[in-house]
This record gives sequence, structure tokens and C-alpha cells, in this order.
Amino acid sequence: MAKVFSPGYNLIIFFIMISRLMSIIGKSSPWNPSIPYDILSLNISSKLSINSDAIRASSKDFGKIVQEILPAAVLYPSSVNDIINLIRFSYELSVPFPVAARGHGHSIRGQAMAPNGVIVDMKSLNNNNNDNDDRNNGNCGIRVSWDSSLGFYADIGGEQLWIDVLHATLKHGLAPVSWTDYLYLTVGGTLSNAGISGQIFRHGPQISNVHEMDVITGKGEFVTCSKHMNSELFFSVLGGLGQFGIITRARIVLDKAPTRVKWVRMLYDDFSKFTKDQEHLISIDGLDYVEGSLMMEQSSVNNWRSSFFSPSNQTKISRLLSQNGIIYCLEMVKYYDDHTAKTIDEDLKKLAKGLNYLPGFMFKKDATFVEFLNRVRSGELELQSKGMWDVPHPWLNLFVPKSSIMDFNAAVFVDIILRQNKPAGPILVYPTSRKKWDDRMSAVIPEEETFYCVGLLHSASGYDECKILDDQNEEILNYCDKAGLNIKQYLPHYKTKEDWTKHFGKNWNIFQQRKTQFDPKMILSPGQRIFN
Ligand code: FAD
Repeated sequence: MAKVFSPGYNLIIFFIMISRLMSIIGKSSPWNPSIPYDILSLNISSKLSINSDAIRASSKDFGKIVQEILPAAVLYPSSVNDIINLIRFSYELSVPFPVAARGHGHSIRGQAMAPNGVIVDMKSLNNNNNDNDDRNNGNCGIRVSWDSSLGFYADIGGEQLWIDVLHATLKHGLAPVSWTDYLYLTVGGTLSNAGISGQIFRHGPQISNVHEMDVITGKGEFVTCSKHMNSELFFSVLGGLGQFGIITRARIVLDKAPTRVKWVRMLYDDFSKFTKDQEHLISIDGLDYVEGSLMMEQSSVNNWRSSFFSPSNQTKISRLLSQNGIIYCLEMVKYYDDHTAKTIDEDLKKLAKGLNYLPGFMFKKDATFVEFLNRVRSGELELQSKGMWDVPHPWLNLFVPKSSIMDFNAAVFVDIILRQNKPAGPILVYPTSRKKWDDRMSAVIPEEETFYCVGLLHSASGYDECKILDDQNEEILNYCDKAGLNIKQYLPHYKTKEDWTKHFGKNWNIFQQRKTQFDPKMILSPGQRIFN
């Protein structure tokens, strides 16, 4: 319905808007005409910024590959209502502007950007949480609870970092069961993808460990959803690449936390023996974490993902590498606490019995649970201190079906990566099973029962090297396509609609229908470049 106001009233509104505009301008960028000035009449106007530093900061991400995609403004919400108001305002326009939640900005290719739109800086919700204040503007923070049907769980704001979730839940002797390798990522950011690490074979990805969520859809509606309530939205959002709504709260499964871990790495010179052992270990009950990685002559034995090997072991492994060129490292972990401390070594011995690693190349570590889960942080801080963290990261993450993994090793690891001898970052390879994924979720995985998670986590010294590594990524994808390996990209990135259609395969129609249902004006997360 059209609103009719008197000229006097309009004049007052005009002055209010001008004064609000002046207050947010500061060291400002010019006002971007894709956002109507009327936005300044909303009560979120004081939380909007067009400050050029804010605009620049939110047009960067960890990948450092996509640059200069500038938003029109950044919203620093202090409450969930602020985000609702922003999205409703855009939704009601005849030409809506895009909106993207920015978690920790650790995307690789601009996925959290919003050209000419508004970035919602999710961290800002956290700044407005106060443990001693029950009101908290409706923001959830991190709250641990128990009930007879769910057991222990935590209600966690979508803006929270997993490292903070770890510390907060440990105060209750509890912890989530499924993790990422790196914990400085937000709950909303990883649930929009899947959230994978070495616990995935046992508990499934992070998206399989969510009971319930609060979501703001692309229509600006606030909806609580679960498997049993508004389930279509629930499954859409999990692995939904931010396309259907902004997660403001997730209710996450918790379990009793261990205090320590036994952490083991074993080396193989034979890929077939390596994968056979990995597949065996994920099929038996007993371990808490199984991953694996490649070691090559051109990469260092320790890397930022974790410095595990002592200097003398590094020398021993370097010798092995100079003979073989490529070595495979199986990594497994068993948790323990005071009650199981006496039996842990014997248990581990039994689990490792019959494994075919190179004799003399098993290495063990004992660490606290937190040291293990937060293992990437020290490498990050070291790179940051040398100015080597803030560089381009042309990463490629893939899911490779078990039936293709031997071909993938021969053609990609050996023939492309080892032969071309380019500087390589950490390369991860570990199996998991479809059983722990729910087909109704948006996340895309291969059809086969067992598939491998492969991560090529390259860092480039500059843009020339970034281009070389990205060309190599392209070569790998082309090979997989031509050889019919049926791989799927994780943290996917495509340039054309055809590629997205192929990525989603038989689920493309559902994905599109869900978009029409929950974000019909295509407002949310345009940086994924699926519909925009
Ligand atoms: P952002 O980059 O800020 O956002 C990612 C996408 O999610 C964007 O489209 C954004 O609009 C959307 N989004 C953000 N918040 C919300 C929300 N609350 N609701 C809805 N949509 C939202 N991934 C793994 O699975 N396992 C790993 O071990 C792992 N390790 C990593 C290590 C490093 C060093 C880095 C940089 C990334 C790693 N990742 C890993 C990838 C990571 O999970 C994704 O890039 C994730 O999206 C990053 O979270 P973020 O909070 O920075 O999200």
C-alpha cells in the first residue's frame, strides 16, 4: 500500500536522512545508487557504513584472488532484527540489492562478497553479546544445554568462531564431535559448505550434527527450522552456500570431551597400501580421526597445517623423500582421558596391527585435546609474522570417488603435481563414507559409498605464481572431466550456469526450486555466482 505523508513530515524525514547520511559518511566512498537513500530512514542506518576502509576490508578474503568487488555498504548489526530489517528493505524494492553474510571472510574466491550490495559483518553480532546480560538483543552467543531427547547440545550464534565454541563448551567438559582442521572459521560459514575434517568418517560433516537453526530467508522472514519443523529450509541451508538464508543460530550436537589425544603418523611409499589402510581404519570402530597427506620433494616435511616432526625425524624423512620423490602420510588419532590413560597405548597398538606402513616410519605424539584441534593456529601465526599468510591461495578442494582414486593419484599427484615440480602447499587425501551425509542436504558429494576428500592447499608468492597454480588446477579439473572420474568440487567455484548445473546433477532442479521458495529475488550470497 502506498504511504502518503504531509510535506512537513517529508521535510523532517529528509533532514533526518541527511543527518544520518552525514554521520555514516566519515572517510566515505561515494553513495552507491544501487541502494536507495530511503534506507537511511530505517533504524539500522547508524549501523551502516560507507567508510572506504570498511568497504575495502569487506571486499577481500583469504583467497586474495577475487579483488575489487566492492559492496555499496557494510552493515554492522547489533541484533538479529537489524539483519531482518535490511533484507526486508531490499526484498520490498522493485530492484533489490544483494546482501551477503560475511563470517570470517575465509572464502577463497569471493564467495562472501556482494557487488554493489550490502555486506553483513556477522562478527559485529558477537561484539554485542554480553554473558551477563540475558537480553543480548536476541543474539545467541554460545549456550550449553541438555534435554532428555537430544542429550547435550549448544545453541551457537552463526557469527561465532569454532575456536570460541571449543573453549566455551570445554568449560562444561563437553565439545562438538565434528570439526574443521582450522578453527578460526564461523559456524554459519562452515555450515554453508559442510565442515569436514578427520572426524567425518565417524560423525559425518558438521552439517550432519545440527539439530535446529534460526534462519533469516531472502524474504526477510525469521524461521526456526529442524528435521521436523520447516524441514525444507533446514536441509536447504545445510551446505546451501548461503543461498537460502542467513543462519543466526545453530543447535549443535555435543559429547563428553576427552582431555588428551594420541596422535600418530605413518609413512607409505605405495599409494595402494596407503589407501587400503585408510579405508580399513575408517571401517573399524576405535579411532576418532583419520586423515592423510602427501609429502613431496618440493614441499617441506612440516608445514603450516601442523609442525609434527622433530628436526631429526625431518632429516630421516627428507632422505626417504629424495629416494622416492613422493611419500604418503597416514594420520590417525585416538582420544583419551584419565579413565582410559592406562589402556590407550595398548588400544592404539591393536588398532595399528597389520598396517602396511614403511618399517621404522611410525611417529607418535601425545597432546592435549585443544592442542590437537587447534593444531593449525601456530603455523598460521608463524606465517603471519613473516607476512606469508596474507598471500594468494589458489586452493582446489575435491571429493573423489573411491573407484577413481588410484587413477587420480597416478595422473594428478604423480603426473601433474610431482612431475611439474611447482611449489606445492599441503595436499590432503583421506576417505569417508556417504552414510553420514543426508541426501536431503544441499551439499554435493559423489554417488559412490566411499569417497576421498582431497585438498590442494596452495599458497602463491604473488599473482604470477597464483596464475601458474590456477592453470595447474584447471589442468587437473580438465583431466578429471575427460577421464570421467565423477569428482565433485568442495567449496565449489564455477563460472557458468552449465558448470553449476553439472555440479548439482540430479539435484539442480531442487536447488533452483528452493531458491525460488526462500530467496525468490536472488538477494543472498551473490559472490557464489550461482544465480547472479
Ligand atoms: P565466509 O568466507 O565469510 O563465508 C562463506 C560463505 O558463507 C559466503 O557465501 C557467505 O555469504 C556465507 N555465510 C557466511 N556466514 C553465513 C551465515 N551465518 N549464514 C549463511 N551464510 C553465511 N573447510 C572445511 O570444511 N574443513 C577445513 O578443514 C577447512 N579448513 C580451512 C582452513 C583455512 C585456513 C581456510 C581459509 C578455510 C578452510 N576451510 C575448511 C574452508 C571454510 O570452511 C570455508 O571457506 C568457510 O566458508 C569459511 O568460513 P567463514 O566464516 O570465513 O565464511
